Amino acid sequence: MGNVQILLRQHVGAPCQAIVKAGDEVKKGTKIAVPAGLGANIFSSVYGVVEEVLEDRIVIRPDEEQKDEFVPIEVADENDKLALVKEAGIVGMGGAGFPTGVKLGINLAETEMAELDPEINPELPADFKLEHSYILINAAECEPGLEHNIRQIEEQCDKVIRGVKYCMEITHADKAVFAIKKKNEKAVEILRKAVADEADITIHLLPDIYPMGEERAVVRECLGVNLTTMQLPSAARSVVVNLETAAKIAEAVDEKKPCITKNLTVRGKINGGNAAHVFMDVPVGVSVGELIERAGGIDGVYGEIIMGGAFTGKSTELDAPITKTTGGILVTIEFPDLHGANVGLLVCACGGSEERMREIAQKMNGKVVSVCRCKQAIENKPGAPLKCLRPGNCPGQVKNNMQFKKDKCEYIIIGNCSDCSNTVMASGPKMGLKVFHQTDHVMRTVGHALYRTLRVSKQVDQLPDGK
Ligand code: SF4
Repeated sequence: MGNVQILLRQHVGAPCQAIVKAGDEVKKGTKIAVPAGLGANIFSSVYGVVEEVLEDRIVIRPDEEQKDEFVPIEVADENDKLALVKEAGIVGMGGAGFPTGVKLGINLAETEMAELDPEINPELPADFKLEHSYILINAAECEPGLEHNIRQIEEQCDKVIRGVKYCMEITHADKAVFAIKKKNEKAVEILRKAVADEADITIHLLPDIYPMGEERAVVRECLGVNLTTMQLPSAARSVVVNLETAAKIAEAVDEKKPCITKNLTVRGKINGGNAAHVFMDVPVGVSVGELIERAGGIDGVYGEIIMGGAFTGKSTELDAPITKTTGGILVTIEFPDLHGANVGLLVCACGGSEERMREIAQKMNGKVVSVCRCKQAIENKPGAPLKCLRPGNCPGQVKNNMQFKKDKCEYIIIGNCSDCSNTVMASGPKMGLKVFHQTDHVMRTVGHALYRTLRVSKQVDQLPDGK
């Protein structure tokens, strides 16, 4: 194993402060950095020696021999489950990175339903109230090509359910609902059997469209409530927890294990084929290159390496370290060459940022002459990441296509959800616009259908009584 680089910022909030120095010996589970504001503890994921403490990371030279044992976390009261979650340094493992100890610090039994916006909830009465409070388990694994979340349900369902029950206990939620795509038949069946005798845990099946894993989309799909871009799930008496996070909570409570490993999918232009390589419990801080080598190594010339998913991931390098929130490492085929043609960008809240889309246009050798935004992509405050008003329900895209035409675009690159990509296709090609989706190079690499015309129903039949 090469040097392990543990970033001091792996969560929403401020970077952590290192509490070790060069030359210190560390074990798996030695606390090496603590929050300096909103954040989560960081632990060494290996046995070794601290090589360097830099402004943004701690570099550790791992010992050749690595033992399985880890240093258990310690709290004043071992029965205080929330304290264990906080101490373990758990964050939203689905990519969001919000500190879980902060998220679960809510009493849902005493949380009132917030006032709903009637404009986006036309079918609900003004005084609508949810009778129950909920832990919603995000098992959507919505980024195409990733498989580690579903693998965890298939292989560690009991651990995930234990974690969910701890979340219910900590927050005083009286119900839990797993949100999972219907297409994952094997995992749904395993889950169905596992919750058959659980009076308060049910399953909600999701359609195979993007985005279903966005927090407010999970609330809408499971509870029928549309939240505004400013409202948190607590406005609907619920907390959304990624399923890998739930498993980490079970580890913290049952084994006193700190958050030092990550599950992820490596996939793409890899020697041996484009099937998914799922790695469970990879030490945080291992390099992207090392994982690609473990998967088989890069197969010839490639376009780029993405850390994360095709929609929301970012391009990365071989020496970059994985963090508590890394879900995917995708090696793509080469980009098509647009030979300097005029390109328009249609930016969405659930796809790449404008900066990421400009990067893709540049890698395709296109000249960006126009940038439009899906009208449901809202900037809550200047510079903040975009949020979608109604994730996955298209507000119409003809106006944007007309603007691209006016700006003399030959090509457009879109980052939209399934529904909006469908709408772009209803008018764009008729206007003579040639459409690329920002995920095309990934979809072609992994053999997934391109995001263009929607062929999947937005509704799926549910299991009787959610079981
Ligand atoms: S409606 Fe618009 S902003 Fe929302 S997910 Fe779809 S494309 Fe993105």
